[in-house]
Amino acid sequence: MMRKLIDLHLHLDGSVPFSTIKKLIKENNLPEMADLSLRNKLSVSPNCHDLNEFLEKFAFPVSFMQTKENLQMIVFDLLKELKEQGLVYVEIRFAPQLHTQQGLSQAEVVRAAINGINQFLIYQKNSDSTHPDLHANLLLCLMRLENNEEENVETVKVCEEFLGRGVSGLDLAGEESERFAIKNYAGIFQFAQQMGIPYTIHAGEAMGPASVKQALNLGAKRIGHGIRSIENTSLINEIVQDNITLECCATSNLNTKVFDQIDHYPIKSLLSQGVKATLNSDDMTVCNTNLPNEYSMLEEKINLSKSDEQKLFLNAINAAFCSKKEKERLLSLI
Ligand SMILES: [Zn+2]
Repeated sequence: MMRKLIDLHLHLDGSVPFSTIKKLIKENNLPEMADLSLRNKLSVSPNCHDLNEFLEKFAFPVSFMQTKENLQMIVFDLLKELKEQGLVYVEIRFAPQLHTQQGLSQAEVVRAAINGINQFLIYQKNSDSTHPDLHANLLLCLMRLENNEEENVETVKVCEEFLGRGVSGLDLAGEESERFAIKNYAGIFQFAQQMGIPYTIHAGEAMGPASVKQALNLGAKRIGHGIRSIENTSLINEIVQDNITLECCATSNLNTKVFDQIDHYPIKSLLSQGVKATLNSDDMTVCNTNLPNEYSMLEEKINLSKSDEQKLFLNAINAAFCSKKEKERLLSLI
């Protein structure tokens, strides 16, 4: 039987389905590419060098994500694929400010993505699948970039405009480095808090436990990755005490060299210490993975058990940025 899965950490630009990219290449009259070279262009190699090689893989899909039609189609196609993988709830994140190169406003970008969700919901209603429904929300990413304060403020406003209508929260993404230290974003998250918008923050991936601490200081209840918290016992204690959720992404962490081997992936250790960990795919296309694959890999390599998986599912329900009614639906699926 298919697993019922929840993904709370999935980037749209890193997860554009392969078949959708092929369709877009054709529609745009770009030179045809053999499957293998296209895969190499979109996905990291098994011996990916570092975060830079990783980040290079986003430019090509993002170049297509500049029109309403394409954005809607990409969300629709992705949701169809996720449904086939057994997902019952997903939060898809992306940064609207990266999709305005051809003149769309951030609000138009978000509306197009919501249209993709709505198109999928109609499609799903008319399909004869016996697997439980897949529901989706969008998280809007603020970006760690030079001189984009205005764009980030705009993202918070757009988030508020669509909150509860397809959008359910914010994230902070982009290069993790001293230059873009999380503490520099205190002002914008205070603004988000005043508007009652929930948020997660990418931390503890390229940077160590101190970056997670900074994200917690800004009021984040969820941490994107946060996996390097494991390096600091007192931070782990704080995470347990304050009910903070970590959005773990195993293959992605291998690709960016946070861990050298999957055997060393500490998700079982986090769970046994009482950390609210979840398992997510991050970038399906860039990392050449998907959530069922992440589960089977961890079952095989680190003996992830059925009871671990139930914990991961429950943790995801508790941490999801969705309505109470949606949480009740998800609980009823156990
Ligand atoms: Zn991420």
